[in-house]
Amino acid sequence: MNARAAAAVIAGKTAALVSRRAARGGGTAVPGLVAERVDPRVVGHLGRQLGRGRVLITGTNGKTTTSRMVARMLEEARVPCIHNREGSNLMRGLASTLVARSNAAGKLARGSASLGLFEVDEATLPAATKALAPRALAFTNLFRDQLDRYGEVDTVATLWREALANAPREAALVLNADDPSVAELAIGWPGPVHWFGLDDPALATTAAGAFDARWCRVCGGTFAYDLRYFAHIGHWRCMRCERKRPTPDTRGSEVTLALDEASFNVDGLGELTMPLTGAYNVYNALAAVATARVLDLPAAAIAAGLAAVQPAFGRQEVLALEGRFLRLMLCKNPAGANQVLQLLGALARSGGGPLDVAVLLNDRFADGQDVSWIWDVDFEPLAAGIRACWAGGDRAEDMALRLKYAGWPPAPAIHGPSALLDAIAAGTPAGGDVFVVPTYTAMLDLREELARRGAAGQFWERE
Ligand SMILES: [Zn+2]
Repeated sequence: MNARAAAAVIAGKTAALVSRRAARGGGTAVPGLVAERVDPRVVGHLGRQLGRGRVLITGTNGKTTTSRMVARMLEEARVPCIHNREGSNLMRGLASTLVARSNAAGKLARGSASLGLFEVDEATLPAATKALAPRALAFTNLFRDQLDRYGEVDTVATLWREALANAPREAALVLNADDPSVAELAIGWPGPVHWFGLDDPALATTAAGAFDARWCRVCGGTFAYDLRYFAHIGHWRCMRCERKRPTPDTRGSEVTLALDEASFNVDGLGELTMPLTGAYNVYNALAAVATARVLDLPAAAIAAGLAAVQPAFGRQEVLALEGRFLRLMLCKNPAGANQVLQLLGALARSGGGPLDVAVLLNDRFADGQDVSWIWDVDFEPLAAGIRACWAGGDRAEDMALRLKYAGWPPAPAIHGPSALLDAIAAGTPAGGDVFVVPTYTAMLDLREELARRGAAGQFWERE
């Protein structure tokens, strides 16, 4: 027993009680914050009791969804697992998750039989890797986030290399073969690498959006693409040296995207189906399948887990509004927004007809305070696929202006979630689908209003 870790657990649990009693709600970081104050090494002390090892999942987009997919697969495989699913992916969030599962002696319940599955913020990866000595690290992609959050893509790439320098040499890397910025993490890595990637020419596009990976890390050359799916994701090769997209170990193909689900083929597993759609979610699924394979999960558990996965907070959740179906599609950065818009374009073209879309822009800290990023988002290709649209959030006017320049039908700028929901209900037929594309805090505001109206509970508390 480690006395300091035990004291940290007790302090964290006390903080959890106090913050629950004060009805702070959602304060999942508080117990961890307090525990870390008492013992800065509490994540390592508790996490290293996990007898089946630790798995870290990071990347700009998709880490929450990918983690939930892996968690569901582990459940199907009956592998006990500790997962920071309640949200915070900073060290304090990992600490909260571990403290909640520990006793007052600083011992993790069922620790020796359990696996740790941790979604980790990009910038937290070096600290998490050092503390947890993971057996596997999965990287989904590397895009530019909101301009003022982590600075350049290069900053994050540097942090990831720093994390790998502190990782156990035998740890397995699960890497996106189609993202050259992720693929470069394999350069010089002494341990095993499991690649995932997508082979589906039907999903390739020439209007692939903002491009975040510019130069080959080895030679400084530029990349050319035989297939490009979105941004810099695709079948790349360096124009100057011999580097090119590695052959995937987990290879997806024959993708079919519907409104509520997607299916695709994976070599060795056959056709897989999941209740999420969009090419970006197919990538999340491939990352999850690859991670599950590194963990030696049975094929049946992988398929069943994927089929049973529930959407994460705001990611393709369906909420009820007076007989309409609000389909929430969270966007946190230009790349994420472009992928959602590509999906909407595909849905409009594949028989869905013109769409009703509300785009919500806030500029609070968690959204990114510089909203100029919306001018890097390709709203233009969807203009012909819009029937009605609304601009909402604190920066509704900026959004309305952006949509006007993109050639969308006139979008009223509406402040406040209540007025927005009234306008949507008034402007759409009952039984119809309304696609809501919010930034993070705009999504929170909207859900709060939906909950106040009693409209959403049965959908979002189903777990
Ligand atoms: Zn090169």
